[in-house]
Amino acid sequence: MRKFTKSQKLFRKVSRIIPLASQTFSKSYLQFIKGWAPLFVSHAKGAAIWDVDGHRYIDFINALLPVILGYQYPAVDEAIKKQLQKGIVLSLPSPLEAELAELLIKHIPCAEMVRFGKNGSDVTSGAIRLARAVTGREHVAVCGYHGWHDWYIGSTTRKLGVPRSTQSLTHKFEYNNIKSLEQIFRRHKNQVAAVIMEPMSYDEPKNNFLRKVKALAHKHGTLLVFDEVITGFRFDLGGAQKLFGVTPDLAAFGKSMANGMPIAALVGKRRYMEKVKDIFYSFTQGGELLSIAAAIATIKEIERRKVIPYLWKLGGILQKSTKALIRRHGLEGTIEVKGKPVWQVFGFHETNGFSDLEIKSYVQQELLQRGFLWFGSHNMSFAHTKRDIDGILRAYDEIFERLQILLSTKQLRRALRGKPITNIFKVR
Ligand code: PMP
Repeated sequence: MRKFTKSQKLFRKVSRIIPLASQTFSKSYLQFIKGWAPLFVSHAKGAAIWDVDGHRYIDFINALLPVILGYQYPAVDEAIKKQLQKGIVLSLPSPLEAELAELLIKHIPCAEMVRFGKNGSDVTSGAIRLARAVTGREHVAVCGYHGWHDWYIGSTTRKLGVPRSTQSLTHKFEYNNIKSLEQIFRRHKNQVAAVIMEPMSYDEPKNNFLRKVKALAHKHGTLLVFDEVITGFRFDLGGAQKLFGVTPDLAAFGKSMANGMPIAALVGKRRYMEKVKDIFYSFTQGGELLSIAAAIATIKEIERRKVIPYLWKLGGILQKSTKALIRRHGLEGTIEVKGKPVWQVFGFHETNGFSDLEIKSYVQQELLQRGFLWFGSHNMSFAHTKRDIDGILRAYDEIFERLQILLSTKQLRRALRGKPITNIFKVR
């Protein structure tokens, strides 16, 4: 049996000096069954990752999606090393910035001009400030998760520390519910600067939803911003806007841009992007070159190796087969797998008196024992092979069979070795 002694020991030490013992909510102990999961990792290569206790896993988290090609991908790592010999960050802009901008413009339908950021939050926040500057309005409509800054996080339950005046400017609407957006426009007539949304997360757009959102926003003189921090470079190199054929005014890209190096991009129509000069959007590391070189190499590799069709195909097999196993074991009411094949997300539902998180924790506990790092999604990478997919499917088959029995005999709680995963806060 896999034990996690070193992880546990390290956790006790680290939690005294690093709040949450993690830099990211989604990588923290809150996402894992207590005592029976790795909490720290040492290294990773391809699709595999090793924890501090020395256990190897096939990684279905992939650093929360930046790792699209696989860990230590040679063409990207070489580009980083080559740039390292020329300097990490320089005192004036480098021509490499324009090279990356051109690549983004080539692929992303709305991109006529580009500015970089480091995190997804940089560029979603830049888009909102820009939309406010362009329209002279203050309110924003949001749909999905858009980052940690005040303007967005004030609209969630994690709003501690955000001024009420800021909270009152952000309004949530529901995906596939155009009426919920209409209501915001009715209540805040001529006051909405931007509609920002994930073009798709778990659910498919229905009844021309994206087109309707765009028409409604434009009818009210509001900018449409697509948050493509996840969909960008996964759904398509041109993002979900390319896949669905709906072009927004501005868009935010991040995560998978550079196979793990920290870089994001604010892109959009020239007539709006020109105004970036007038707002304050500027930071010391905006032109940091290891990330820019890595992004160029990543995009070229995605083009050359036809990475995205591969992710769709392999992810498609995995999603279809997982759904078949759920059906075979009579768990349709308990487990579902949503999203596109390139980024699939599990939904768990309370069954026979057991909570969604207890059920998810059981599946996680068993997957970890079988060598799969998993927190409820399939974050596909180019390094995943058919063998990896077959491996996790075999594991699901065993786990679901047992789960079905544990649920129907009401024994699940006894099968859990530790306290279940805690819910952080739901944004989607
Ligand atoms: N938008 C979306 C859709 C995201 O998934 C995330 C990150 N999870 C962000 C924005 C924020 O990105 P970051 O964490 O890099 O600031």
